Amino acid sequence: MTLSSKLSDPRLFRQYAYVDGKWTHGEGGREEAVFDPATGEALGHIPWLEAHQITAAVDAAEAAFVHWRALRADERCERLLAWYDLLQAHREDLATLMTLEQGKPLPDARGEVEYGASFVRWFAEEGKRTFGETIPSHIPNAALGTIKEPVGIAALITPWNFPLAMITRKAAAAMAAGCTVIVKPAGETPFSALALAELAERAGIPAGVFNVVLGEPAEVSKILCAEDRVKALSFTGSTRVGRLLLEQCANTVKRVSLELGGNAPFIVGPDMDPKEAAFAAVAAKFQTAGQDCLAADRILVHESIHDEFVEHFAERMAALTVGNGLESEIDLGPLIHRQAVEKAAAIVDDAISKGATLVAGDQSQAPGENFFMPVLLTDVTHDMKIWHEESFAPVAGITAYADDDQVIEMANDTEYGLAAYIYTHDIRRIWKIMRALEFGMVSVNSVKMTGPPVPFGGVKHSGLGREGGVTGIDEYLETKYYCLGALGSVSGS
Ligand code: NAD
Repeated sequence: MTLSSKLSDPRLFRQYAYVDGKWTHGEGGREEAVFDPATGEALGHIPWLEAHQITAAVDAAEAAFVHWRALRADERCERLLAWYDLLQAHREDLATLMTLEQGKPLPDARGEVEYGASFVRWFAEEGKRTFGETIPSHIPNAALGTIKEPVGIAALITPWNFPLAMITRKAAAAMAAGCTVIVKPAGETPFSALALAELAERAGIPAGVFNVVLGEPAEVSKILCAEDRVKALSFTGSTRVGRLLLEQCANTVKRVSLELGGNAPFIVGPDMDPKEAAFAAVAAKFQTAGQDCLAADRILVHESIHDEFVEHFAERMAALTVGNGLESEIDLGPLIHRQAVEKAAAIVDDAISKGATLVAGDQSQAPGENFFMPVLLTDVTHDMKIWHEESFAPVAGITAYADDDQVIEMANDTEYGLAAYIYTHDIRRIWKIMRALEFGMVSVNSVKMTGPPVPFGGVKHSGLGREGGVTGIDEYLETKYYCLGALGSVSGS
């Protein structure tokens, strides 16, 4: 059965790049297969564009910028809201496409479509509120102020774990600001990006405003980073690639926003009900099979409730179902590819060899070669890979701690600084730990923390800038200061 036959609107499945409003073949004839990680079957093929075709996308975005920026903010808002409506109307197909190429269970994919669409609506509205300011003048007979202007073309490079929302969180902000965009999605999950392009076209977003380019990642990124006409680069992905892109953008002095890796601590205070906290930790760890920058990678539990917490965690984890995300009642789909499974196994082996205890996790039960059964390790320590590296897999590591000062030190003992969780009802402990944590986002007694109104982003090696919220659009705006002199004096001023 072909992929398009699984969709009620087969035209959402596109196997071309999308440049200047046209579905584009690769001129060099290079193609790459895209696989269903659950079955290993090829879902389709995508072209790899030649260097001059990437430059052509920049030409198209440059030409479209002239007209798109000249629209009134409310006109851009209307187009973006039409796009939002189409995302909602095609939610089921978008979710199916996503599960097929990414592997996450269908209910999670539906949730991501909803989440991704919500950024389009949010930024459609925020585009109407890019206010400048009036500055009380210190210069005689002058009026001073600022206006906000779009930076220009934005290149958006995105990962495979959230194939739709990581694009809309950037693209909607940029487009609402009046920028045109060139999206380079992950090669593992291009079809969600291309479905977004199809719906953008149907929403009346003009040719050249939203482009999707495909190709060898390092080559495409090098061209976009070196292009002087590309004024902003927004990247979500690993810290390793983020560093590389930051360097590549130095020559053209671009605006760079980076949403990079996380290694979230999940801190459980001594006052917590161990069962309640363990169930929350399972939810925070195993979303998207652990392939989530917000995954609770280091679970730090007060020694007085550690053993009970571990029991409840193991019990809850044992109830998780692993399988093809298209089937019903599945909690964890496959990992994205075989290398991810190998990396997860190596992280577990490393921890065990250095003294961690394997409480649960029998890989002989895995339903296919890209699947990894949830693993629970205790006695996890600082010298293990699992402490410092994102496992990006369903591998949970638990460590006991003695007091607040020790847990703060443990939690901050990482190069990452994206998100952290605290579970305790003691307000003084919450305040002390929350203030001391070196993370961009801290969630207290809640697994869910993201959404359009909040500033999403990290500190340390987890990134630069914030997405979403009232400041997310600023990543795509310049502030122009004006001084209107020689105005003459105004009585009463
Ligand atoms: P990745 O860095 O391997 O890839 C991200 C993007 O960069 C993809 O489009 C990929 O094709 C491209 N890329 C890969 N190698 C490149 C190179 N040498 N030069 C230029 N581009 C290159 O990341 P991934 O494996 O797709 O995603 C997982 C990572 O993303 C994790 O580290 C995760 O924490 C991070 N992430 C962060 C957030 C956040 O908001 N902070 C959200 C989701 C994922």
